[in-house]
Parts: sequence; structure tokens; C-alpha cells
Amino acid sequence: MRITRLCLFNFRNMASAEIVPGDSITVLHGLNGQGKTNLLEAIHMLGHARPFRPAKTAELVMHGEAASFIRGEIRSSNSFSEILIHLEGVNRRVKVDGKPVHRSTELHGRLGVLLFSPEDTAMVRLGPETRRRYLDRAIYGSEVTFLKDYHDYYRILKQRNHLLKSGNREGLEEWTEQLAEAGARLMARRREFTRRLDRIFGAHYSNIAGAEEKVALLYKPDSGESEDDAARLKELFDSGLQSDIRHGATGRGPHRDDLQFMINGRALRTFGSQGQQRSFVLALKMAELDSIQETLGEPPVLLLDDMSSELDRRRSTNLLEFVRQRGIQSFITTTDRNSLPSGMVEMSLFYRVEEGKLTYEGTT
Ligand code: ATP
Ligand code: MG
Repeated sequence: MRITRLCLFNFRNMASAEIVPGDSITVLHGLNGQGKTNLLEAIHMLGHARPFRPAKTAELVMHGEAASFIRGEIRSSNSFSEILIHLEGVNRRVKVDGKPVHRSTELHGRLGVLLFSPEDTAMVRLGPETRRRYLDRAIYGSEVTFLKDYHDYYRILKQRNHLLKSGNREGLEEWTEQLAEAGARLMARRREFTRRLDRIFGAHYSNIAGAEEKVALLYKPDSGESEDDAARLKELFDSGLQSDIRHGATGRGPHRDDLQFMINGRALRTFGSQGQQRSFVLALKMAELDSIQETLGEPPVLLLDDMSSELDRRRSTNLLEFVRQRGIQSFITTTDRNSLPSGMVEMSLFYRVEEGKLTYEGTT
């Protein structure tokens, strides 16, 4: 998949901008705070209809302006399409080829987009919630039907918590049973997807890090491993009932699940160097890319934010080789274009980003 043209109007600090990206790498370079990440965010909006940094719709529109739009022309192996995102006040409208799209699942797969940013590496050190969110988003990126299982569980959880809070026990038994069943379905999806990533990301790790450490990815359900997740969850909910009533919320369950990152049999968070942590997360992203490619039949567009701060020259070169072999269209931001490996410079198009304005610099 490729973006062949991107137009922005009043998006963040960009009043009006147009890019005709390269087939391979497009480098966006400029000083801090000029709008490089904003541009990647606009591309992310085309793929997912939401920004990757938490923001309300109104915050995406340029200060003092009423509305914004992002328009992308997309070429995939067998079609051309146009995605339009229109933002006004609290409203966000999406059109594909001029036709309104109302559900996020309808936009899914029109433009595959995968982001790698400094915040991704932070998930190694942050709490389980960050990794759980990562996992759920990654599953959705490859499996559109995941959304239903995800929403089912969290909707029922909300209902059960509502009952616990209100002190009204009527129907609690039924909701608890439903929660256990929906929880088991959610866990099955998480477990299966983690296995899928685990099977492929070790090879990516070796390629990127150029090292032979043994890495592993483990799904850590809050309810532990069991033969029958639904029965186990039911047991957990029942035994925690008194405490749940006291707290007015369900204490245990899949909303507490975690992912465990291992290197040479130990926890990456405590035993991995910073460089190993970066390689690990990048390898995970590459495995995610494989998985999206498997689903969509072609690779997604890759967004690499703040490239030079995240990857040293050797890792950048290894990543570049991967991107080149796969024919992946990539957008890379950096404050220092001289820090890019020479092999990358040769296959890149350059744009300078300054105060929200883009200047085309060609292939130099
Ligand atoms: P860095 O190299 O530090 O990561 P960057 O080039 O990636 O910088 P961005 O995050 O893309 O910078 O842009 C940040 C700029 O965009 C800030 O100056 C911010 O004030 C501005 N900005 C964000 N939202 C809006 C908005 N809605 N209207 C106007 N300006 C905005
Ligand atoms: Mg930035």
C-alpha cells in the first residue's frame, strides 16, 4: 500500500500542505516543534481515523480555525482510492471515495498504517495497562473482528461494575456469567495473537540487533493459565465477590492482563539494556507488520517518528534493509538529516518542515 498524495488543511500547526511521497522513504526533517510528528499523525488519521497521541478532535484543528481536512490518495495492488477526514468542532467525518463511512471497521484495511515512536519503547518500563493497550490495538490492526470481542467484554464489565456500585444485586449472577464467557473469548484472541507474534519476532530481533539473544513474548492473563478460561474466570469473580462489592468494581479479570517481555530467560525491563529494549520493541513492530501484511495482502505504510533518537546507525541500517526488501513505503522524521545512514539517503525523498510549512528538497 502506498500514499501517492497527501493534502492537509488547518491540521494542527499546518495551514496548508501537500506531499507527493516517494515509493520508498520520505524523510521529514526540521527543528523541534515544527510539525514533523503532526504530519505523521495526519497519515495515521487516514488509516485509523484517530490520532496516535491522545487528543480531542477540536485540538487537531489549527488554533483559531473552524475546520480541518486531511485527504490522501491511496494506491494498493489492485485499486486506487481516496480517503478524506473532515474535522469540525467535536465532529469527525470520514469518506472513502466520496462515500461517508460511519464505522471504524469500514475504514479498516483501506490504508494500513504502522507507527514506531519513542513512546513505544517506553511500554517496556510502564505498567501492564500500556502493554495491554498495545496488544489490543495490534490485534485489531490485523483482525477486524476482534473489535466485537473487545467491546463485548468491556461493555459487560461496565454493567457488572454498575451493579456492584449501586448495591443492587439483581441480575449480578447473570452478568457475572456473561463476563466470564466474554472474558474467555477475549483471552483466547489475546493468547492466539501473542503466540503468532512470538513465533515470528525472534528472527526480526536477530536481524535488527545483529545479536543472538533469545527473546520471547508471553501472554500473562490475570487469571493464570487454565484448561477452561471461562470456568476459571467464573471462579475468580465468585471468590472476589465480597471484595468487589466493597470496592464497587470487578477487581480481577482480563482487564488486568499483561504481556511479558523476556530476554535470555529474564525480564527485559530489568535485565535488558536500553538498546536491547529498543531492538525488542522494534522487532515486535516488525512482527506486527508481518501480521498486517498477512491479513491485508500487502505491507502497511510505516511511520518512524524521531528516528535518530530511537535507533543508532547500525539498527537504522538493518531496518532500512528490511524496508527495502519488502518494498514498504516509509515516512521518517528526524531533527538531523545528516544522522541518516548513507544507504538510506540514496533511496529517500526529503522535505524540510518549518513552522508547519513543507519545503520539497528532492532526492539529494
Ligand atoms: P519534535 O522534533 O520536538 O518532536 P515536531 O516537529 O515533531 O517536534 P510536532 O509535535 O509535530 O513537532 O509539532 C508541535 C507543534 O504543533 C507545537 O508547536 C504545537 O504548539 C503545534 N500545535 C499542535 N496542535 C496545534 C493546533 N491545533 N494548532 C496550532 N498549532 C498546534
Ligand atoms: Mg516530534
